[in-house]
Amino acid sequence: MKQVYDYIIVGGGSSGCVAAARLVTDGKARVLVLEGGHGHRHPMLDMPPGIFKMIYGSKFMRYHQTVPQEHLDGRVHDIPQGNVLGGGSSVNAQVYMRGVPSDYEEWHELLRGGNDYPGWSWDDVLPHFRGMEGNNRLQNDLHSSAGPLLVSDPGHVNEVSRWFVQSVQALGLPYNHDFNGPSQRGVGFYQFMNRNGKRSSAAYAFLGPLEGNPDLEVKLNARVSRIEIADGVAVGVTYRDAKGREHQAFADREVIVSAGSLVTPQLLMLSGIGPADHLAAHGISCIADLPGVGANLIDHPEVPITALANGPYGYYLQGEGWRMLANGLQFKIFGSGPITSAGVEAGAFVNPVDPDGTPSIQAFCVPIVYLDRGAPGLVENSYGFTVTTVVTKPKSRGTVQLRSADPNDMPLVSPNLLKHPDDMQTMIAGQKYFLRAFHEEPLAGRVKRIAIPAPDDTSDAAIAAHCRRFVKTNFHPSGTCRMGPDGDKMAVLDARLRVRGIEHLRVCDLSAMPNINSGNTNAPAMMLGSRCAEFALQEASA
Ligand SMILES: Cc1cc2nc3c(=O)[nH]c(=O)nc-3n(C[C@H](O)[C@H](O)[C@H](O)COP(=O)(O)OP(=O)(O)OC[C@H]3O[C@@H](n4cnc5c(N)ncnc54)[C@H](O)[C@@H]3O)c2cc1C
Repeated sequence: MKQVYDYIIVGGGSSGCVAAARLVTDGKARVLVLEGGHGHRHPMLDMPPGIFKMIYGSKFMRYHQTVPQEHLDGRVHDIPQGNVLGGGSSVNAQVYMRGVPSDYEEWHELLRGGNDYPGWSWDDVLPHFRGMEGNNRLQNDLHSSAGPLLVSDPGHVNEVSRWFVQSVQALGLPYNHDFNGPSQRGVGFYQFMNRNGKRSSAAYAFLGPLEGNPDLEVKLNARVSRIEIADGVAVGVTYRDAKGREHQAFADREVIVSAGSLVTPQLLMLSGIGPADHLAAHGISCIADLPGVGANLIDHPEVPITALANGPYGYYLQGEGWRMLANGLQFKIFGSGPITSAGVEAGAFVNPVDPDGTPSIQAFCVPIVYLDRGAPGLVENSYGFTVTTVVTKPKSRGTVQLRSADPNDMPLVSPNLLKHPDDMQTMIAGQKYFLRAFHEEPLAGRVKRIAIPAPDDTSDAAIAAHCRRFVKTNFHPSGTCRMGPDGDKMAVLDARLRVRGIEHLRVCDLSAMPNINSGNTNAPAMMLGSRCAEFALQEASA
């Protein structure tokens, strides 16, 4: 029987779940969500420390591997992405960040072009952030406690996180009790998308209340391989189920592609939308020549500073023997204790060259020895702690390209982290700033030795070499099908997330971002989902 819906959403991730929920709830539309990954109900996904297992190997992740990065001495590194309903929001570290108003004002200005009012100013996006938020502490002009996305202060704070905050305060950075408040600058504790340690993913928060609603159908392990386009109009999709059988589904109103920044451009290209010469090289006939598809890959580069501790501090032992049992029981019975923590609790935003200025570095304090899977010189099985530094507004740009015309092949991803010299300079300054924190009390008294970067050489050249060795993704690939104004030949989408040159086709995930926000990206992805539904419903009723 022909499957026909009002909207088909390709990918039930952070953006896709929100868009689906709004289309069904506000628009009373019939929606099909095709999610390539698994179901989201699993203890490892629910409990925050599960992230460390997942980063290193789990069926709930797909591990994209970069092509060799010449500027990193040929290194390759992983970019794990959620492979589960809820997407990144089901596997991430749950840090709740929106970025700063100027991130969105920048989009608004970039998009002006032929658009009278692009609709991406801070005043345009704030109601979406606020409308979704259910904050356990904050209720004011910037925050709401009434929304479905549960946002909470950390359920447990490790002593190392407290020492980090105090040591960075000793450097002169003020305490900030709300990184999503009037100013991002400062050091403090993050808020998290959970409550009593249980994850509040897009799947739980937005699709959960719609369970049993006949207007919403969610198919799991349904991997879309092509968007079906007839006479320039997107009419449906082809997908494969878990057994590899091919099916088709059709949409009367729109197909919305929400497969994340690494797969959305791949799917567009497999469907004939992308750079004509690149498609031709893979034997794909071009329907819309959009050279921007797969260009403009932006990610936040992350580099660790790791110290070995002189005592049993941090989370090293939390997973062993009777402690694990005690912690597990505390979590199960009271929803409290170390297992409510994803490990990351404290952080900072600072401009290391002008500490009073606009932050250019975000830092995360991780109370374990935390390095990337496959990182060289891994220091493990030791008490220790890691501070990672992240460039908030990187200038480096990468690419996503087809490996082949076979949808089973992962795309070729080249993020070019730290390739732009300004990013490297900012990162070096950030590393030097936070290295100083390890020499301030109370952290200083707990350090046995700094393991990386090498403590005896903190020259720019030595830190640059350390960055090239260890830089990895902060898990925020974005921008690969960016919005842009009329006349911008690299713009894939217009300001209402519509694919240029194809009717009834929208993109709704981080790939739409013209530039990355300053900070973690899950809440912005959800905001994009909410806006997408708003645009689609406005047009449907026009
Ligand atoms: C390990 C990790 C830690 C992170 N930590 C944080 C954090 O603490 N705070 C924060 O704000 N952000 C964090 N992020 C980032 C954040 O979660 C993502 O930026 C966000 O989820 C991206 O949303 P999206 O909708 O663009 O894509 P996704 O959420 O990735 O959604 C894409 C969906 O499409 C599905 N899909 C892919 N291909 C297909 C296909 N062919 N057919 C059908 N479905 C398909 C995927 O399975 C996925 O469900 C983290 C991410 C990761 C991976």
